[in-house]
Amino acid sequence: MARYGGLEAGGTKFVCAVGSSPDDLSEEVRFSTTTPAETMAQAVAYFAEQHRRSPLDAIGVGSFGPVEPNPNAPDYGYITTTPKAHWHMTDVVGPLAQAIGVPVGFDSDVNGAALGEFRWGAAQGLDTFVYLTVGTGLGGGGMVGGKLIHGLMHPEMGHMPLRRDPEADPYPGFCVYHGDCFEGLVCGPAIEARWGKSARDLPVDHPAWALQAHYLALGLVNIILVLSPQRIILGGGVMDQHHLFPLVRAKVQTLLNGYIQKRQILDEIDAYIVPPGLGNRAGVMGAIALAEMAASS
Ligand code: ADP
Ligand code: ZN
Repeated sequence: MARYGGLEAGGTKFVCAVGSSPDDLSEEVRFSTTTPAETMAQAVAYFAEQHRRSPLDAIGVGSFGPVEPNPNAPDYGYITTTPKAHWHMTDVVGPLAQAIGVPVGFDSDVNGAALGEFRWGAAQGLDTFVYLTVGTGLGGGGMVGGKLIHGLMHPEMGHMPLRRDPEADPYPGFCVYHGDCFEGLVCGPAIEARWGKSARDLPVDHPAWALQAHYLALGLVNIILVLSPQRIILGGGVMDQHHLFPLVRAKVQTLLNGYIQKRQILDEIDAYIVPPGLGNRAGVMGAIALAEMAASS
């Protein structure tokens, strides 16, 4: 059986695992994201030890970004223009490839998670879909026509501008680049800054959730109109508030206002906007899926 390493490189923590499918996932370890020197050394040590025990066929990395996923670019495999302290222009693929000597697959964390959902989760059988995570930040990836979306780099759906009514919502937004972009309005830290309380601790009947659903629906409608996805998967810590799903679905229908006459939107929206099939393992399984793809290419 194949043996792949998966690294979910997040801005808060790195999660490493070995396996070949959700039924065969072992040895998961996690450590805090500190400096590149320290954190990359921990990741390299983990995979080197796993490779010594029993050879790995490939490693996959789904990383916080922005990243450079184009193998022909000089900074391929790097985390590039992140505002995260210490991590600007950090080579992630290089140290792993050099130390372990196996193919390394690399993409944004959300493109990786999308691939994992395509392989084993809620996007099986689809060819055009989006995976969005709402957590410390907000990121979106996915496939169009059966291929992970790449172009100039990778999608940055989290930073699309949204319409905000300053009277109804005076909070100016959390994004260091744009203020009230999609991420700036709906990520976990934005909720906490706006309401003075962590999203975890806001009761279900708090007005925060209607506003959250409103912004999420605005973002999703833009994505639906631009990419025409067959399904949208919403993951990340904030979406653990499952009561958000019906609110978001209803607002998406209201905002589209009958314009898209498709049963998936009109009658079957419960199956159109869904949580990840892989649950909170979408990230690390996505990294394993990136390894599988690297091994076969
Ligand atoms: P990350 O984005 O760092 O990988 P998460 O997806 O867990 O990690 O996102 C963390 C953010 O999500 C924090 O801002 C936190 O407040 C929020 N969060 C985590 N769990 C929950 C929850 N159960 N309910 C609401 N918000 C949550
Ligand atoms: Zn932004």
